[in-house]
Amino acid sequence: MSLNSLSAFRDRDRAEKLIRRIKNRLTRSWMIMEMCGGQTHALLQSGIDQLLSPEITFIHGPGCPVCVTPQSTIDKAIRLANHQDVILTTYGDMLRVPGTDISLATARAAGADVRVVYAALDALTIARETPNKQVVFLGIGFETTAPANGISVIQSARLGITNYSMLSYQVRVPSALKMILDAEDNRVQAFLAAGHVCAVMGTAEYLPISQQYQVPISVTGFEPVDLLAGIDQVVSDLESGQWQVQNAYSRSVSASGNPAALAIIDEVFEPCAREWRGIGQIPDSGWKIKDQFSAFDAEKKFDLAVESEVFDSVCIAGQILLGQKLPLDCPAFARNCSPEHPLGAAMVSSEGTCAAYYRYRREYA
Ligand code: SF4
Repeated sequence: MSLNSLSAFRDRDRAEKLIRRIKNRLTRSWMIMEMCGGQTHALLQSGIDQLLSPEITFIHGPGCPVCVTPQSTIDKAIRLANHQDVILTTYGDMLRVPGTDISLATARAAGADVRVVYAALDALTIARETPNKQVVFLGIGFETTAPANGISVIQSARLGITNYSMLSYQVRVPSALKMILDAEDNRVQAFLAAGHVCAVMGTAEYLPISQQYQVPISVTGFEPVDLLAGIDQVVSDLESGQWQVQNAYSRSVSASGNPAALAIIDEVFEPCAREWRGIGQIPDSGWKIKDQFSAFDAEKKFDLAVESEVFDSVCIAGQILLGQKLPLDCPAFARNCSPEHPLGAAMVSSEGTCAAYYRYRREYA
């Protein structure tokens, strides 16, 4: 997509027209959760949340992969990085996420070989160039990263590479969405589903959730007009007492998803329960590497038994991830917790809700 065509989705006139249309529909107040941290940043940056307040309250969801990666995964990565024969590779955001005692950045400062890469295939390249070292990729993320992470495993198997493996933490949206809706104190009445996740997975898996919980869901992109189009769709359903899955991001998302990406996921991964940082275990909320690829699964290749402790910290990121609290409710926000000195992962990540509030709403602290 060219910049010109993208600018149409940032067009002020189109956005204002959609805001007027949404406001004209409103007869009462509604609570809408945007699932993805990228959507949260876009809503706050554009001021859409304030323009539609007080009728619409946006509840910020747990769709930030760095934020939900548990302490135990960071501890395992640090244990690997401290091994003299290992090069630990990962995305830049993961370096400052706190483990039980330290972060990967601290381990690196103390001498561990921790390298930032943009993708799993970059880590595979390092493995091919450094045959005397074991190269481990800390591969985290939602459905969006699973195909690229999975292809590194398939490639390694095809090429007979023996010094590459992945410490995998893949999570999935639908089970988290159900957990939010099942909570006794749930306040969410409609969802904005993340366009990039649905570009991989399609929209079909949201249909049973919408039907079972009688909740409208709209898939949106990340530009103001994309978000407003999705908000308009769910508000229309809410006001008319209907529920369905709609697609406000049809330029990238189809009902059936991306078949090539889905085939990679299906080849490499299988469903599993996953621990979500600050939230706890959610059944069927992740993928693990299939047994046939265990030679490339760092959990099976190395002894990674760690005793991770979750301290009674001031950090309330778990409640923020579930939409129960806002960063402004945290006593540490913009005081002793900042992007320079983060106490929790939600302040580290470029998609974290605390980082979004620090950037766009700090004056309210
Ligand atoms: S502001 Fe910092 S300490 Fe508070 S919830 Fe967010 S990450 Fe945790």
